[in-house]
Amino acid sequence: MNRSEMMTPATSKAVVDEICDAIHARRRFLITSHARPDGDSIGSQLAMAYALVALGKEVRIVNADPAPEHYMEFPGVDHIEIAREVVEIDADALIVMESGDLARTGVLGLEGRFTINIDHHQGNTNYGSLNWLDESAAACGELVFELVQKLGIPLTVEIATHVYLAILTDTGSFHHSNITPRTFDICRQAVEAGVYPAAMARRVFDSNSFGKLKLIGALLDEMDLLDEGRLAVLYLNDDILNATGTTYNDTEGLINLPLTAREIQAVAFFKLGADGDIRVSLRSKYDVDVRTVASRHGGGGHKNAAGFTVKGPLDGVRDGLLKEIVDAIELGIQTRPNG
Ligand code: 5GP
Ligand code: MN
Repeated sequence: MNRSEMMTPATSKAVVDEICDAIHARRRFLITSHARPDGDSIGSQLAMAYALVALGKEVRIVNADPAPEHYMEFPGVDHIEIAREVVEIDADALIVMESGDLARTGVLGLEGRFTINIDHHQGNTNYGSLNWLDESAAACGELVFELVQKLGIPLTVEIATHVYLAILTDTGSFHHSNITPRTFDICRQAVEAGVYPAAMARRVFDSNSFGKLKLIGALLDEMDLLDEGRLAVLYLNDDILNATGTTYNDTEGLINLPLTAREIQAVAFFKLGADGDIRVSLRSKYDVDVRTVASRHGGGGHKNAAGFTVKGPLDGVRDGLLKEIVDAIELGIQTRPNG
């Protein structure tokens, strides 16, 4: 079966049914997602976990890295185990969210299990026993929502909160181009189930520390503008973190700030690690496709939000990459709607 066949609604429906059967037939589940989890990974995993618990199942969530600080107050986040390896897996099934391959989880020891692979990124390698891949979903949380409904589980406020969290964050607070009527239909149901959108937005986007405000100032102060102001480039290193009293985790979401300037069409954010690794995050507006750029460098993501990691030094990658983004802006801007 090729990928386009995988994506037909009929096949997707069949996979969801198979996943429901597989869940009903098993008792103990281990849920995971990609390393450095974001709101969609956290929300999708916990919505799934609450749903499984409602069915009387046993659930563990194991992630390679902790959730960013401001997610800690959402229900169940404190139950996520942080481990780079699972030595003894006492589960009948593994559910992997948002990961193109098992290595993306950053957790060792997951191979050779009955695996349910749920993802909305392009380029997923179909590593699961059951693979539900739907690139039309604005967030993996949309797929989890559908699964919860198919399983006949009532939408509790915990499940609704995590589905909403997944969507709110993975759409870049309803900015990205992957939003569909389904997105709002799910959010409507989440709000009916007790989610309070104003509180969600405040908790996710307005929970900065004073240090983070200083970090924003320092990063924007050093920002480069290229391509007549259409491309913004941010740089992070340990000196900036130390000077502002912040940590790497405080950088989440900051990449979106330059996009609030009307002219800026894309942002590249270089985060220089002490180990010599360079983590590159990319964001864009409308049809400027940064996923294709990231995938050329061994990463991936979505049209408007993508990333990858390379070995330094920075000079070796920066200029070529920035040229590619300028080309992507040129290509994408031709199809841009008014606004
Ligand atoms: P971020 O810039 O927030 O780390 O990532 C943005 C988007 O790109 C997310 O959807 C994330 O899954 C994807 N992404 C980031 N880094 C990588 C990577 O190294 N490989 C792949 N396949 N996707 C990535
Ligand atoms: Mn996602």
